[in-house]
Amino acid sequence: MNSVTPGIVEQLTDRIRRLVAGNGGVMTGPGTNTYIVGREQLAIVDPGPNDTAHIDAILNVVGDKLRWVLVTHTHPDHSPAAAVLAAKTGAQLIGAVMTDDGHQDSTFTVVRNIQHGECLKTSEYTLLAIHTPGHVANHFCYLVEEEGMLFTGDHIINGSTVVIIPPSGDMADYLASLEHLKNYNISALCPGHGDVMPEPIQAIQGIIDHRMRREAKVLKVLQQERQGSLTALTPQVYEDVDVSLHPVAQLSLWAHLLKLEKDGVVLRESEPHWAFGDEIWFYLPQ
Ligand SMILES: [Zn+2]
Repeated sequence: MNSVTPGIVEQLTDRIRRLVAGNGGVMTGPGTNTYIVGREQLAIVDPGPNDTAHIDAILNVVGDKLRWVLVTHTHPDHSPAAAVLAAKTGAQLIGAVMTDDGHQDSTFTVVRNIQHGECLKTSEYTLLAIHTPGHVANHFCYLVEEEGMLFTGDHIINGSTVVIIPPSGDMADYLASLEHLKNYNISALCPGHGDVMPEPIQAIQGIIDHRMRREAKVLKVLQQERQGSLTALTPQVYEDVDVSLHPVAQLSLWAHLLKLEKDGVVLRESEPHWAFGDEIWFYLPQ
């Protein structure tokens, strides 16, 4: 198994190298993974934060061969280095931008948003864009078709659970995107954080099962309480999770309840106070 260490270039396959940014933390694990694809005409997937040391390390690896910078999504730990690299190398930016919800990197711009099913094809590799909304609406995974290696960004990360923050994050979309990935010939997952995951189908099914168990817990608690705000429900739904993580868990609870509302299982008070998520009340129909 490779070590996920900032600043060290790891050769993962014939075509793929990984460089980890020095932004490790609670939400980013060992740091954001930047992947370098190809040997002659290079593409980068997720250049990472606008961090001088990381950008210098990328430039050191790519030399004058960088042609494309792809981003899985535009969160601040994944895309801000893209604009800097484009300015320094002339590389073309590929990805999708969305309306800023307060969590997006506004420096990332594209001529045209990438579409589901589009390919970047060179003599060395083919990168297929797969739209995977859920973590955030503009999230794409990219498949190296020759190797079956899938760059999963924050759709699937190694070592912890992905945070789904409404309204740009959507639990129903997230689960549908996970199911959709089962249609592709994938040999391993290259996550945005953490090491390569060599058992893709087991990993994907494991995440789906984990989310469905949590959804069942949400319903169980709601059946006991009949109603509740996010603040009131979080400690019960996440009694197995350390209290220090409850503020983040509360966002996932919100996402679960919105999915259950979409499914017609729970009701939400009529006024959607997006800015005050913890004051939203959910209840079961009488
Ligand atoms: Zn993200």
